[in-house]
Amino acid sequence: MADGIRVTLWNEGRHEKTMPRVAELYPDGMHRAIGRSLEGKPGIASVRCVALDDPGQGLTDEILADTDVMTWWGHCAHDEVLEENAAKVQQRVLEGMGLIVLHSGHFSKPFMRLMGTGCFLKWREHGEHGEKERLWVVDPAHPIVEGLPDHFELPNTEMYGEPFGIPKPDDLVFISWFQGGEVFRSGCCWHRERGKVFYFRPGHETFPIYHDARVLRVLYNAVRWAAPVRMETPPVQGNTQPLEPLP
Ligand code: ZN
Repeated sequence: MADGIRVTLWNEGRHEKTMPRVAELYPDGMHRAIGRSLEGKPGIASVRCVALDDPGQGLTDEILADTDVMTWWGHCAHDEVLEENAAKVQQRVLEGMGLIVLHSGHFSKPFMRLMGTGCFLKWREHGEHGEKERLWVVDPAHPIVEGLPDHFELPNTEMYGEPFGIPKPDDLVFISWFQGGEVFRSGCCWHRERGKVFYFRPGHETFPIYHDARVLRVLYNAVRWAAPVRMETPPVQGNTQPLEPLP
């Protein structure tokens, strides 16, 4: 296996085709904006962009087998993702693939399968410009905050508010405050068997969120954090012989 992390950026890719504002911000898709920021960075071996409308919904066995970390952006077409494909993504996470779920991906099939909860939240789109979001680092020892200030702001965002219907995160990395007064657990980590999941809230399609250097730094750090751990030998489960003689 080649050194470095093989990243696959999965994108629903529909808003870019149907909403002029989104096409203007991301002419070749949100996933490519993120992908360009990852290419050539230390630790990244390859960057592949796939979309819902690709053959096999961009989730063929070959692609999944060749992926160490997958990012997931979806919003209006969650239901179109085939259950069998969502199940394959879930299984790959249990086997060690990292999964980074972005913004409205909180309602995606792979995320909901891995969480096992409703994953609902409060939300508000306030006019053309949205509202300010201030992200606070609440775990300064966490590798996902490498190189970041202790807080940063996104001037125009959609609001997501608590309660967020997720299982308690293993690590809570960011909490967001919104201009309207709500707060939200906007950076959450979970371990699922051998794999890791990171949910990152920013990413509403009508704002240039994936052109923001701090957001892209979080995603790069998250890719490195979520990369599979390669043990000398795979972990063993099932019926097993004792390691010491038993009486
Ligand atoms: Zn949104």
